[in-house]
Amino acid sequence: NKRTKIKELLAGEPTGQQVTVMGWVRTFRNNQFIALNDGSTLNNLQIVVELGLLDEATLKRITTGAALKITGELIPSLGKGQKMEIKAAVIEVLGDSDSEQYPLQPKKHSLEFLREIAHLRFRTNTFSAIFRIRHALAFAIHRFFNEKGFVYLHTPIITSSDAEGAGEMFQVTTLPLAQLPKSAEGGIDFSQDFFGKSTNLTVSGQLEGELAATALGDIYTFGPTFRAENSNTTRHLAEFWMIEPEMAFYDLQDNMDLAEEFIQYLIRYVMEHNAADLSFLDTRQKEEEKALPQAQRSELGLLDKLQFVLDNRFERITYSEAIEVLLQSPAYKKKKFKYEVKWGIDLQSEHERYLVEKHYKKPVIVTDYPKDIKAFYMRQNDDGKTVAAMDILAPGIGEIVGGSQREERLDKLETRMQEMHVPLKEMQWYLDTRRFGTVPHAGFGLGFERMVLFVTGMSNIRDVIPFARTPKNCEF
Ligand code: ATP
Ligand code: MG
Ligand code: MG
Ligand code: MG
Repeated sequence: NKRTKIKELLAGEPTGQQVTVMGWVRTFRNNQFIALNDGSTLNNLQIVVELGLLDEATLKRITTGAALKITGELIPSLGKGQKMEIKAAVIEVLGDSDSEQYPLQPKKHSLEFLREIAHLRFRTNTFSAIFRIRHALAFAIHRFFNEKGFVYLHTPIITSSDAEGAGEMFQVTTLPLAQLPKSAEGGIDFSQDFFGKSTNLTVSGQLEGELAATALGDIYTFGPTFRAENSNTTRHLAEFWMIEPEMAFYDLQDNMDLAEEFIQYLIRYVMEHNAADLSFLDTRQKEEEKALPQAQRSELGLLDKLQFVLDNRFERITYSEAIEVLLQSPAYKKKKFKYEVKWGIDLQSEHERYLVEKHYKKPVIVTDYPKDIKAFYMRQNDDGKTVAAMDILAPGIGEIVGGSQREERLDKLETRMQEMHVPLKEMQWYLDTRRFGTVPHAGFGLGFERMVLFVTGMSNIRDVIPFARTPKNCEF
């Protein structure tokens, strides 16, 4: 009764043994050939239904989307493009699927359409490939850090710190909204909502991660992260996953080296373990781009792009150099940028993508940003204007990593916190890391979905997370 997964069968030989498979019908041709998919691989398994095996009524129930259990002999296939097939002895319909109503037909659907029926899109080749790759990346992340002796640390989801100081927090309350006290300005007063304290959903596990890193040495978090982003971009979600390693005794260079090695490791892992899914997405992208004018097509296909990233070091430039490049660019001179370019701005995605896609033509690490556009905890450089920050920018997306060497000097940190109105009194726990045995340390955050975007070549972040949370999406 045990089922064998199609992936496992296809990896072996058609030895004539009896097997049981279970899955969903993709197509049923001539009342004779079922293409069965069970989610373990892109490949469907062909099931041959001999004349007379099933009565008319059962044959009618074998429709696209129906769930079947099939037992039969695994034999070599005479058909082209497939090594084996099952000659069915018993077919049981586990679940019917009304073909009049089933939204997924055996044809290509647009991503927009599939986003509207996101609850069913797992059943398509594109999304099953994406989510198998997403899984592989998650596994490879743990493997990478485990090989390096990092400790996987769980930081809290409910916290009272706003690590980024960007005010993009979801408040957490134990009270029904109607019972919340009003603030002086008339809005809701959230200051005592969590059993008498003010709390929010985490925007980053970094500050807590620093506590552990300055004792355990090297740690990483990998968990859900929440930002009240009311922006409808193709790279922001209200709920996303972030990987945040934090390392004691690291400076900015060490931090960049680790981040680059990490990203290359993940790409290599997926290329080795998900070759079929990647090449499917590679072909898919090429087909999609056929409709575009030449200038808008990717210069490299997905697989070539990934290989290129493995073969070349990332470009490393300072923020000041980045601004210089942008100011000298034809795009700037032709007023192609929507946002202003001058020293002091936060780079916008259009600027980041220009640097990566048009100028350097490879991933870029930008360092030493102006201190006024970065968080309080970044280490101040001697110039008094910049901090030891680093962002990694990737083609098609822009920022995928944000990191820095942390300010380990207590006096400098306290002064900066005061300047930026970070509540000093409530953050003594954090300052204790600087008070008792402070050390140089550094870390970064990699947005998991942005990495999945990068590796799958998809262009909208909603398409690489199973259940996207955006201002317009939170039904299921
Ligand atoms: P952006 O400039 O794109 O808004 P950020 O600078 O606000 O990103 P950081 O605070 O540096 O983001 O967070 C670290 C990483 O987390 C980012 O480099 C990115 O990969 C990811 N990230 C940040 N915000 C989001 C979001 N809303 N949805 C998905 N990933 C995100
Ligand atoms: Mg942001
Ligand atoms: Mg940013
Ligand atoms: Mg950032």
